[in-house]
Amino acid sequence: MKSQVFFIPAAREDGDEVLAEKAEKIFLKIGLRNQIEKKSFVAMKIHFGEKGNTGFIKPQWIVKIISQIKGITSRVFLTDSNTLYVSKRSNSLEHLSLAREHGFSQETLGIPVIIADGLIGRDDDEIQVNLSRIKSAKIASAILNSDILVCLTHFTGHILTGFGAALKNLGMGCASRAGKLEQHSDVHPWVNPKLCDNCGVCFNYCPSQAIVEKGDSAFIVEEKCIGCGECLVVCNQGAVKFNWDSDSVRVQEKMSEYAFSVWKHLKGKISFINFLIKVTKDCDCMSDGQQPIVEDIGILGSLDPVALDQASVDLVNKRSGKDILRAGYDLDWSVQLSHGVKIGLGSRDYELIEL
Ligand code: SF4
Ligand code: SF4
Repeated sequence: MKSQVFFIPAAREDGDEVLAEKAEKIFLKIGLRNQIEKKSFVAMKIHFGEKGNTGFIKPQWIVKIISQIKGITSRVFLTDSNTLYVSKRSNSLEHLSLAREHGFSQETLGIPVIIADGLIGRDDDEIQVNLSRIKSAKIASAILNSDILVCLTHFTGHILTGFGAALKNLGMGCASRAGKLEQHSDVHPWVNPKLCDNCGVCFNYCPSQAIVEKGDSAFIVEEKCIGCGECLVVCNQGAVKFNWDSDSVRVQEKMSEYAFSVWKHLKGKISFINFLIKVTKDCDCMSDGQQPIVEDIGILGSLDPVALDQASVDLVNKRSGKDILRAGYDLDWSVQLSHGVKIGLGSRDYELIEL
């Protein structure tokens, strides 16, 4: 059976107010609002954007969704989890301070902002799933203790998974640090010494001090590597390699299984909204103002994260006239979707309903 995906064309030129109205329209159409009760805890999962990043969903675009939820319950909050790698978002204090810098705060939005997996990413609970890649998932406790989840996602390309959208926000974004580590543990990059000019850039970016100098080039100490993928992105020489096919397949399948664990725990009470606005080659964890790879497309929403991501990819590729995601990183981004179907998380078959 086809899943319904709602779509409304939108672009930055619309201005913040119109974008907020369009996002509200999508949220209402999805229909999850009817399941929110006066005492429901509602988590609004978002990415606050790395320092220097400019692509993240702007706080002004979600104010009307917040108002809708606040009209029913005061127990609504904005949240994200801490990062695996060392950054301004790897502990709650600096993470909240950066969120505030980017406009996400009680003062600006009228609801609390909390970090879902606690001070240093250790507040989690384990969900049993017994799937092929994972037996259990380590999920941030504030997500698991909520009754309703509103998953707000900026659609982007991604170095490890081809693209990052609802499935990634749910699977990777709701995992605690240990959960993220488990999903990245299959990524094993190495340096091709013939391409490396020993510039040293990756040494500074590696959060685990896993890159050392060996002879005239960089060398990755596998035992120390946490698989975050930073070195893949920052090397301008293309000297850092990883097994695109096998490593990426495993990461994507684990990510889908993590997404399934949250979905199963919350009994499907999750509303997914993707923003296809300023779609960039890399995700919002990058600390720079990337240029978009395609014109702005719009806002999509669904109760089915697989259908939503499939529809989002289709619109992005249709607008660019080619598989622009594969042009960015030559890996099969569809694995997360097909695995999502296999484990019962959703359908790739969808009906796109334009509002
Ligand atoms: S960034 Fe690339 S070229 Fe520079 S040291 Fe690291 S692997 Fe070598
Ligand atoms: S070697 Fe690369 S993938 Fe491994 S931890 Fe360092 S930056 Fe991350």
